[in-house]
Amino acid sequence: MNTLPQNTIEINEAKYLNLLLQVPVAIVTFQGPFFIIEIANKTALEILGKSYGQVFNKPLFEVSPELEDRLKGILTDVYTTGEPFTDNEMQLQIRRNGKTDMAYFNSVYQPLRGVDNEICGIIFTATEVTEGVNARKKIEESEQRFAAAVAAVQGILWTNNANGEMKGEQAEWAALTGQSYEEYQGYGWVKIVHPDDAQPTIDAWQIAVNERKVFDFEHRLKMHNGQWGHFSIRAIPILNSDGSIREWVGVHTDITQKWIAEEALKESEEKFRGLVETLPHLVWIMDEKGEGVYASKNWQEYSGLNPYETGNWQLVVYPDDLAEMTNIWITGLATGKIYHAEARLKNKHGEYRWHVVEGLPILNAEQKITKWIGSFTDIHDQKIKEQQKDEFISIASHEMKTPLTSAKGYLELLMLIVSEENQTAFLYANKANQAVERLHSLIKELLDASKIQNGKLNYNISAFDFNEMMGEAIENIQVTAKNHRLQLTGNSVRKIKGDKDRLQQVLVNLLGNAVKYSPNGDKILINVDEQQGKLLVSIQDFGVGMLRQHLDKIFDRYYRVQEHAVYFQGLGIGLYICSNIIQNHEGKIWVDSEPGKGSTFYFTLPL
Ligand code: ADP
Repeated sequence: MNTLPQNTIEINEAKYLNLLLQVPVAIVTFQGPFFIIEIANKTALEILGKSYGQVFNKPLFEVSPELEDRLKGILTDVYTTGEPFTDNEMQLQIRRNGKTDMAYFNSVYQPLRGVDNEICGIIFTATEVTEGVNARKKIEESEQRFAAAVAAVQGILWTNNANGEMKGEQAEWAALTGQSYEEYQGYGWVKIVHPDDAQPTIDAWQIAVNERKVFDFEHRLKMHNGQWGHFSIRAIPILNSDGSIREWVGVHTDITQKWIAEEALKESEEKFRGLVETLPHLVWIMDEKGEGVYASKNWQEYSGLNPYETGNWQLVVYPDDLAEMTNIWITGLATGKIYHAEARLKNKHGEYRWHVVEGLPILNAEQKITKWIGSFTDIHDQKIKEQQKDEFISIASHEMKTPLTSAKGYLELLMLIVSEENQTAFLYANKANQAVERLHSLIKELLDASKIQNGKLNYNISAFDFNEMMGEAIENIQVTAKNHRLQLTGNSVRKIKGDKDRLQQVLVNLLGNAVKYSPNGDKILINVDEQQGKLLVSIQDFGVGMLRQHLDKIFDRYYRVQEHAVYFQGLGIGLYICSNIIQNHEGKIWVDSEPGKGSTFYFTLPL
């Protein structure tokens, strides 16, 4: 029998042991119930972080007590039952290349049996799978991230194969639509797309698939609850390394709420348009630069021009009115005030017609004007009538002035002659003179109003004593107002620059009104004050007063409070003249009033 020499066997054993020690698999053998380490190769020592000398012939839990909790149960089980134990992706810290790494091992604990087949120890082998585990973890993480991103856009995710057919399990699609696996396969999903959207969807989808382009679309789907939902879809082709399409990944995002809001907006816009188109007014919307954004049909019909062409708006406005309109427009832009002007607008036949132009600024959250919405209202016929009336009043009052002045002169002469001899005749002549006097001042008012209209009211400016002028006005009124007490408080220290007669006319008018509109008599309080470089005059009566809605309008020409017109005579132009005179002096005039309690008129003049 050919036996190997002893030293050859030893050499071979040493060779195998050496091989065992070098393999990249960790190998440890434990002997006996205390798990005494007999063999531990290089990889195993790296896991334990020890040298061979530190572990050889020592119980495992003496060498590494920290492993006892984790391994004692396993080792004891294998040792006593003889059942091998497998532990996949066991996570262990391992010290190698000078640093500590987290590593994963697939490990096996197997019983070691002696010659008598009795368990005498355990052999532990572990293969490192760190790279695989890390790669898988990364994929899992990125899948989680992707799923979170899809959830964040409230979308549902699906995949199609390279040919654009839905294949395999599509859990989210099934949950959204209620379609079964068999139902949605291939092009089955089209069955729950709204009939009006189905063909356009297929067409667009096939173009995207053929051209390998990102698919962006919107359509309606019947959802599992039977309702139609609006969805926006985006699908992206995923390419293989050779550039061919591996699959399509798509997301359906529910935009039903947004769609409902948009529809509601569209509907309200249509309503607005419909309403606007039925109005006789020419309605327009302009941006903050004055460019047309919208114009009702009748704007175009009236002008015969395209409202959206730059410069066409200006072409419509009568050249003389354009400058003033532009001025009001600029002030409106700067102050955000409601735009109000009157202008002549040319129609498509070349005729100019008077219109009221009104514009309301639309502000954004930062209180900046973004748009103007406005209208042109035809006031031509009314305006022409007004002009004719003004013309008539102007001519008539002019014509009446001369005979009235001579009648007044003759009456004064008559009064001189009859004063001594005939008391009754004197009384009548005096009454006639007062009536003529009243008529005279009415005609003067009418003439002033028509002069204001034509911009011809003249002013003689000089410096004068306001107190003295006011004293005279109060005295004049007090003489005729027997039932009223006119009380003055305060005074003006400085001289005023202005037209003395015109300002006296203002005072006489306001005091006259205070008397007229407090028929039950009472006091009338006049106060003069100097405030912030201005003279402030107030005239307060305790008469009939008026409602708030009239306060601005009573300064308009011919405006009279309806309730007063029955009891009090007047033309409704006194305050119009007052307001013009005060404005001409760069002052302001306004009123506070309450029905039944009285009114206070105020005006300021610069000092
Ligand atoms: P009128 O000739 O009608 O008095 P005015 O222009 O002076 O014209 O005034 C316009 C309107 O303002 C009057 O018709 C009247 O209704 C109202 N008004 C003016 N002053 C007073 C006042 N002191 N108290 C109440 N109402 C007044």
